[in-house]
Order: sequence, then C-alpha cells, then structure tokens
Amino acid sequence: MAKRSLLIAVDGPAASGKGTIAKALARHYDLPHMDTGLLYRAVALALWRFGGDAGNEFEALRAVEGVHQIDPDDEELRTETVGKLASRVSAYPAVRAALLDRQRLFAAQKGGAVLDGRDIGTVIAPDATAKLFVTASPEVRAERRLKEILARGVTAHFEDVLADIRSRDERDKGRDAAPLVQADDADLLDTSDLGVEEAIAAAIALVDKRIS
Ligand code: C5P
Repeated sequence: MAKRSLLIAVDGPAASGKGTIAKALARHYDLPHMDTGLLYRAVALALWRFGGDAGNEFEALRAVEGVHQIDPDDEELRTETVGKLASRVSAYPAVRAALLDRQRLFAAQKGGAVLDGRDIGTVIAPDATAKLFVTASPEVRAERRLKEILARGVTAHFEDVLADIRSRDERDKGRDAAPLVQADDADLLDTSDLGVEEAIAAAIALVDKRIS
C-alpha cells in the first residue's frame, strides 16, 4: 500500500527541544528531515569566513551564494557565535527569500517530510498535516544550552547564556520578516517539565491525533 504523504512542521525558539523532537518524528514516521536553522547558520558562517558585515543586507545575501553543500557535522555551524550571527542575517527578507525554494522543495517531497525552524508552519509549509510549536521557559532552555556548550569543552556561565537566549528570542520574534510565532493551527508543546523521551512521546501523540 502506498504511504500517505505526511508533512510535519516543527517550530519554536532556541533550545526548546524542537530539533531533537523533529529528528525523532522523522525516525518514527520514516520521513526525511531538514533542520532549516542550519541553512541560516551556513549563511552566517560563510559571511563570517569572508569577513562580511552582518549589518549589511547585500553582504549577507552574497553569503547565501557561497552556500552550496552544507555539512551537518561541521562543528563550526553549531557554535554560539554562528547562532547569534544566524539570527541577525535571518532577519533580512532577501536572505529569507533566497532560501525559500530549497525549503519548499524539501517540504514538497512525495511521501512528506519533517522540517524544523521558526517559520515552517507559518511560511514554508502552511498546509502541513501537523504543526507543533515547541517551547520551554527561557531558564530551562538556557540550562540545556549551557550543558551543550560545556559538553563541547567550552567555558560558559548560566547568566550569559540566558541573556543570549533572551536576546535571540527578541530578535526572532520581533523581526518583520517571518517572525517566530505560533501558527493558529499549531499544537503547543511545552517541554519545560518533560524529559527527552516524554517530550518525544507527547509530540508523536499530537501528530497521531492530527493524522487520525
Ligand atoms: O534553530 P537554530 O538555532 O539553529 O537557528 C539559528 C537562527 O536561524 C535562529 O536564531 C533564527 O534566527 C534563524 N532561523 C530562522 N528561520 C528558520 C530557522 C532558523 O530565522 N526557519
């Protein structure tokens, strides 16, 4: 029997758990997965490598042209510096427009897909079968991010990480182009008090409900 197409949009702020949940959903439903944050991170890294100015939309757009193949294992993509820079370049409408087709094409695959990001349910895949808006309190997210940073052997302090999370939230929510916002038809999943397995189980239950 042919598999029904299943498109799942997972959005949410930094360190909410959306990436882990999206990957687990992709495994569970046997779907390809795209972490769209990596696209913006790759642009930020390209900009940083050629010494471009993140305050200049044209230079940021030039950096998009430098992004061809993205290596998800490139550790530089995951650094805090690149994450912060990504949140600046992603505010430019021209940068977002230049990355739109890649994401829409991925979402349009025959059997479906899982995409995670900030604007999947609102802009990239408004017709998704299931939409999750994954969130957690800023303190819980900062704690999680701190653990990740320390595990990479980098020194960091909770207060600084929390301040970064708050300023990234503000920038992602406050921009004019595709701001971070819960789609009207998205299910809210607050992972503040959930362990990883509990959060994944809750996400699967929400998607299953949408499918039926
Ligand atoms: O999800 P991640 O933290 O890797 O994303 C890095 C930055 O890229 C975010 O802070 C956000 O500004 C931007 N982004 C976006 N739209 C997406 C995914 C990420 O604006 N769909």
